[in-house]
Formats: sequence, C-alpha cells, structure tokens
Amino acid sequence: DPEISGEFQKLLSWADELRTMSVRANADTPEDAARAREFGAEGIGLCRTEHMFMAQDRLPVVQQMILAETLEERNAALEKLLPMQQGDFYGILKAMAGFPVYIRLLDPPLHEFLPNQEELAVEIAELKCTNGDPKVIAEKEELLKKVRQLHEFNPMLGHRGCRLGVTFPEIYAMQVRAIYQATAQLVKEGVDAKPEVMIPLVIHANELRMLREQAVEIAKQVQEETGVTFDIHVGTMIEMPRAAVTADEIAEFADFFSFGTNDLTQTTLGFSRDDAEGKFLQDYLAKKILTDNPFIVLDQGGVGKLVKMGTELGRQANPKLKVGICGEHGGEPSSIAFCHRVGMDYVSCSPFRVPIARLAAAQAAVGGESAVSTK
Ligand code: PEP
Ligand code: MG
Repeated sequence: DPEISGEFQKLLSWADELRTMSVRANADTPEDAARAREFGAEGIGLCRTEHMFMAQDRLPVVQQMILAETLEERNAALEKLLPMQQGDFYGILKAMAGFPVYIRLLDPPLHEFLPNQEELAVEIAELKCTNGDPKVIAEKEELLKKVRQLHEFNPMLGHRGCRLGVTFPEIYAMQVRAIYQATAQLVKEGVDAKPEVMIPLVIHANELRMLREQAVEIAKQVQEETGVTFDIHVGTMIEMPRAAVTADEIAEFADFFSFGTNDLTQTTLGFSRDDAEGKFLQDYLAKKILTDNPFIVLDQGGVGKLVKMGTELGRQANPKLKVGICGEHGGEPSSIAFCHRVGMDYVSCSPFRVPIARLAAAQAAVGGESAVSTK
C-alpha cells in the first residue's frame, strides 16, 4: 500500500534526523547494493568477495589458481581473474557512488572452491567400476589427493582470512589491483567511487602491517599507471578475541575497524558457527542458561565486552579510527543500541534490515527502550 509506505518513509526520515550512527548494508552484487540504497543504506560495510570466486564461469580458473604447483602457474590464473574482479568492483562501486564501500579480501579456506572429497571419491569408484578412461581416472585421483591435502578438520579456525593473504600475497595483490583499477576507471568516467580495503581475520598487528603496505603500494602503482588519484584506506575486521585485546597495536595500521561478531562470537564462546545454530543451539537455549541467541544478540558480558574494549583501545591509539560492526548483530535492535552506547560510527546489516537498523539507531540515540522488534 503506497499510503503506508509513504508514512513509513516519513517515520524513517524522522529517525534519520535523530540517529548519530550511519547505517550501511552488507552487499556483494550491484543489485544488492542498489536495493540497499533504496532502503536508505549509506554505504557498504561488508562486501564479501568469496561469492564472486564461486561463479560457475570462473570456478575452473579459481581451481587452477588454487591447485597451481608454481608461482608462475598461480600468477597465470590470477591474471585471468583480474579483469573479472575489476568488473565485479566496477559494478558495486558504481551502484554505491558517493558512499564508502568496504571490500573484504578473500576470507574462506581455499578447499571451499574445490570439489567435495567424498563426492569425488564416489565418482572415481564409479568410473573404475564402469571401466572409465584411465587417463580421466588418473587425473581425478590426482585432484582427490590435493583436495585431501587441503582438507581441514576445523576450517573456520584454519587457513583462511588474512592467513591466505600472508601465505599467498599474490591473491590479495590481484584483488587490491582489481579494486583500484575499477576505481580509476570510474573516476575517469566522473563517478565518485569510494572503496576501502578490508582485511579479514587479523590476530596480530604485523599481519595488517604487511598487507596494508602491499595494498598501499599497489594503489600507488595504479595511480601512476592511470594518472588518476584517489583516497587509499585500509582497515581490518576485528573478529578474533586476540584482535580485540590487542586493538591498540592493530589500530596503528588501520583506518577502520569492522567488528565481525559472527566469528567473534564463535571464537569467544567456543561455539562452532557451522554446527551450533543448525544442531544444538535451540535446545541449549531452551535450558535458559543463556538468555538469548548469542549469534544475534550481543552478549554484553562477553562478546560485547570485547567489542567495547576493542573500540576503546583502537581509538586510544588512533583517534581518527572509524569503528563499525558487520556481523549479524548489526541488524538486531538491542545489539544496535549496544553499538551506539559503545560509540560506533556505523552499523552494517543485510539490505532488508536497513530500515529496522535506521529506526533502532534513532531509538538508541534518544535513549529509549527499543520499540523495534526483530520478530
Ligand atoms: C563476521 O565474522 O562477523 C563476518 C561478518 O564475517 P563472515 O560472516 O563473512 O565470516
Ligand atoms: Mg568473519
């Protein structure tokens, strides 16, 4: 009903006058970015890049890159990925023109881009039973060997996030180059592209120092090559307890902190993100030991305490530091109120939660009990 929608718009515009935190969206396609803008998002607080790597047409190249035996082979695959990523970032930066877009470099463990090992083993067994081509069988067996080498029992705690960037700097280098080449292209077209590079899973200031230096160097190279100047901002996710408690050291190399409270909850509580919500959490919550679902409501005595500590330590070391949140909590009213009390600059949530977040941020600013329900 356009009448209701008009009234709701009015309410949202009043809320916007009151709130002090800005509201951004988590989005990784131009379509989601455009939808987020329609809902009033003032930027992208988390652009995940892993789905871009999953696209069917590029998965074979991604697999070549992962399975490469030499740096030359890996670089050859990365060279093919570069224009594709540049296209991805061009689209999303254009859809968010004039607003900041925090682009997170590759986060998941690399085996996520490879075939499933059980399925592959079954496929090989079937090929053998049906007298399949020995060459194909040998190739698949070789692939299975590599998939098994990369397999991890706890992949969420394994070789992922900036650990990949430290081990394979060339992967992050390709992404950063793609971000800034897209930026230069847009600036030439008169579009106000505002990318910021976000490093995931940092636990030590040295990780950020190294990856920041690389990103800044590449950005400057692109400026020289294209003759276009643009701002260079590099920040980090704070999503591991060690990052929160050493936030003062990390902040020295960060333009912004984005609290990844999904991983921070998992690692602070020791609850597996993969298993807790799907398997035991609902039954456990029914025992009333915990008051709320910790993946949705910030536990102020635990994860929230780390968020507060991280914010304060970070700002002490770097008063210009921008601070926000991009975990699921960023779209939940009581957690948004907590973020306001901690003094964050912004919250970021799914595009569809942006209106709720705008209302909740206003409610928090006027100091009332949250009247906005997540239900
Ligand atoms: C987080 O950990 O809170 C986060 C936003 O990152 P992801 O959910 O992609 O791990
Ligand atoms: Mg995370």
